[in-house]
Amino acid sequence: MTKKQKKSLTRIIIAALLMIILKFLPAEGWLRFVLYMIPYLVVGYDILRKAFKGILNKQVFNGKNTTTQSVAAWAESGYKSGHLTKTNKPVAHIITHELAHATWNSNLSSPNAKAAGKSVNSLYKKWRADKGKSGYGKYASTNVSEFWAEVCTKAVHGKSDKYTSAAKGIIKKYKL
Ligand SMILES: [Zn+2]
Repeated sequence: MTKKQKKSLTRIIIAALLMIILKFLPAEGWLRFVLYMIPYLVVGYDILRKAFKGILNKQVFNGKNTTTQSVAAWAESGYKSGHLTKTNKPVAHIITHELAHATWNSNLSSPNAKAAGKSVNSLYKKWRADKGKSGYGKYASTNVSEFWAEVCTKAVHGKSDKYTSAAKGIIKKYKL
């Protein structure tokens, strides 16, 4: 890992940890929104988004930018250290989930995010009504933003299904 990659990776991990901590804070409304902006300021919104997309497109293994190279190097060192996939996966899941929030969430107001929001919401409705879906935890039904983060995480770490394909399609169509 180069110095630049190390720096960028450290910031990604700090931001992901901050997002996890924020999840357990009781703050509501605008205060919560402002707090949620801190991780994005730490690392930069674009870097988080690119990190997630690097993971999604498996570019982590042939990545051309610093972000994806950092994530790849981090994953590799995790494997080399002898940790089993079983132990590594929950961590990978949490970080991927937090990064997925950066691709789309209901607080975003850019034209692309708003346009994508319609598709995400209708996918969420379909998904909620589907009694045959499998592989989703309860957390995904918390709200549309959590659904989005979970379906995107499933696209990376879990079994693909019609919802993960639809999510990939939405990311592509709206350039999230
Ligand atoms: Zn979340």
